[in-house]
Parts: sequence; structure tokens; C-alpha cells
Amino acid sequence: MQKKVLSLALTLLFSALFVHISYTQTGKSTSRIKTIIIDAGHGGSDAGARGKFSTEAQITLELALKLEEILKSEMSDTRIVMTRRTDIFHNVREKAKIANSENGDLFICIHVNAAPPRQHKELVRYKTVTYYTGKGKNRKKRTRKEPVYRYWSTPNPAHGTSTYVFAADRGDEKASGIQNDVRFESEAEVEDVPDPESPEAIIKARLWTQKFFRNSIRLGSMIETEFDKIGRKSLGVLQRNHKGIWVLQATNMPAVLIETGFITDAEEEEYLNSESGQKEMVRAMADAIKNYKTVMDSPRPSATDSAVETSPATSLNKTVPPQKNNSQQKQVAALTSSSSKKR
Ligand SMILES: [Zn+2]
Repeated sequence: MQKKVLSLALTLLFSALFVHISYTQTGKSTSRIKTIIIDAGHGGSDAGARGKFSTEAQITLELALKLEEILKSEMSDTRIVMTRRTDIFHNVREKAKIANSENGDLFICIHVNAAPPRQHKELVRYKTVTYYTGKGKNRKKRTRKEPVYRYWSTPNPAHGTSTYVFAADRGDEKASGIQNDVRFESEAEVEDVPDPESPEAIIKARLWTQKFFRNSIRLGSMIETEFDKIGRKSLGVLQRNHKGIWVLQATNMPAVLIETGFITDAEEEEYLNSESGQKEMVRAMADAIKNYKTVMDSPRPSATDSAVETSPATSLNKTVPPQKNNSQQKQVAALTSSSSKKR
């Protein structure tokens, strides 16, 4: 009798073990990328940048919903969470809160860039202006020439895609060799962002950089590579620590902010509003995200952030030096120079 009980217990134990093994082999729980957060920039009272006939908030929502659809159908083992699915306003604190409470493994923020019109001034002619000096007997009529100018503006020629990654260290900006930031954003989303210069904020930003910077750059490079493949002009992966991308380091996961093009460029506004353009863009984003997941789930993803996370050397005073990402930066630089003629 005792033997029977023992063998039954053993059988149960082995079958339980088998179920467990087969679950983890086929399982949905083994991937490092279980949940992806998609954030459509702006919305509601904050329309974001405006073009001739469309708004940034409207385009970002359309792209985000299409990206959700494609990821849900092609990454069935990954949970896709949207920060918004309708035309509503969230400030960036709320967006970060959603991403963190949903335990995201990736934060994808979708935006559309804008650049202010170029102002021009031209001398047309001189006009004669009459004036008087002195009083009484001494009063004299005099004239002088004054220039007449013509003022006009033309659309800003800035165009192309870029992907932003947060970098705590301001030195990174110099190292990345990008002097002129071409990002023009409405301030509504970031109005109540905490002071990024406070000691707490600086420590928090450095910690985020140590944990998630490399994988954010990795994903950013993959996204820009896919944009280049579909013939978009890629301005590359840009590292910044300004207020406009504060949300990225407020999430507890690798995070990128994609500027999908310039709404102020007639051709790009047309493209980003078209069904075919939107499909092409989300196809590219989805391919990059799937590539990223494959790399992260491969047995030995090189230079993973988890190695940084568990490293005892991680300290508050150390930031990830930009040299570590040289290969990606070179790749991005190559992209930028090779595609200057593209849209
Ligand atoms: Zn925006």
C-alpha cells in the first residue's frame, strides 16, 4: 500500500514537472519582452504640432492604433498596452504611470516633428520722409531716406525621421556630434514635469541611463534602420536629456521617442496622413520591435542591460560612457549620410 502511494506521488510529481517544462518550452512566460507600451503623443486639448490640414495628435493616434493591430496579430505572446486609444489628453506623468503600472518591457512613444517657417527680409526701395527741426524762425524742413523692407516666410525645409533616447549625461550630447537639435514640440505635455535639475531628478535619470540606455539605443538604431530601408530620410538616433523627452526616463524600461517625420513639410504631411504611408511606417516599426525581441530572447544577447543591472560596480556617480555605443553611432552616422537625398 505504501509503495502504491509512493509511486502515485512520484507519477504526479513527474507529470507536474513535465507540464512545467513543456509550458516553459512553448511558453509565453520565457520572453524578456512580455509587455509593450505604445504611447500616441499628445491628444485631446493638446493637438501637438499643426500642418496644413492635419495635427500631430491625430497622426500619432492613427499610427499607434495601426501599430497595435500589427503587433497583436504578429506577436501573440506579447501584451500590447496603449496609453490612449481615443482623442484624450494625458500629461507625461500619467503616461509614465500607465507604463510602469502595466509592467512594460518597452516604451514606444510616437510623435510627429515640426519646424518653424523660415523668415525672410528684403530691401525693396528707399522712401523720402519729411521732418522739421527747430522752432519759430529757425524751423526748417528736412528730408531723409528710409529703407522699405518686404517680409515673407517660406516652409522650413527640415524633413526626415529621428528616434530619441534619453541620456543623463550632458556630455553625451557633445559626443554624439549633433549641434542643432531639430525637435520642435508643444509644451502642453511637459508642463508639470518635475525640475530636471533637482538632485533627486539627476540621480533618477542617471540610474535610468545605467539600466536602460543601451537597449534603448539598440532599439532606436533598429527603428531608424527600418525607416532607411523603406526610403525615409533618417536623421538618426539622437541622445538627449531635455524636458521634452523626460517621460522616457520616468518609465522603468527601455524607452524611445520616435519622430516619424515633419508635419511642416508638405510631402511628409501628405505621406504621414496617407493609408499607404502609415502602413509602411508601422510595418517598419513592427519589424524593428520584432528584431529587438529576437535579439533580447536569443541565448546570449550581447551587451545586455541586465548585465549592467546586476553589476555590483553600478554606482550613482557613474554614467554609461557614450563610447560603448560607438558601433551604433557609426551605423546611425552612415545612415544619415547615405540617405540625404531621400524623403
Ligand atoms: Zn510631439
